[in-house]
Amino acid sequence: MKDSSEKMTRRQALSGLIVLPAMAGFLASTAGIAEAKGSKSQYKYQDHPNGGHKCSGCRFFQPGKPASGNGSCQLVSGSISPNGWCIAYAAK
Ligand code: SF4
Repeated sequence: MKDSSEKMTRRQALSGLIVLPAMAGFLASTAGIAEAKGSKSQYKYQDHPNGGHKCSGCRFFQPGKPASGNGSCQLVSGSISPNGWCIAYAAK
């Protein structure tokens, strides 16, 4: 009985040695996906507001310096106008 439980422990340890690096690779790849931004065309970005909605009022907008100039976006790549808009707009 003791040998059986020891074998399970070794087996579990060995499977852990295989699973942990695989999980680390998966987490690294999903982190890369989360950090990847989309293109302006993917998000149908425009450099003018859509009604009363514009980037400066969006939770994903990161103001530039000066704040009245172009900034960046957490989702869309490139220079982003505070007066722009895209389909991912989400009010602050
Ligand atoms: S998600 Fe769209 S609307 Fe919001 S800041 Fe980025 S580009 Fe502008």
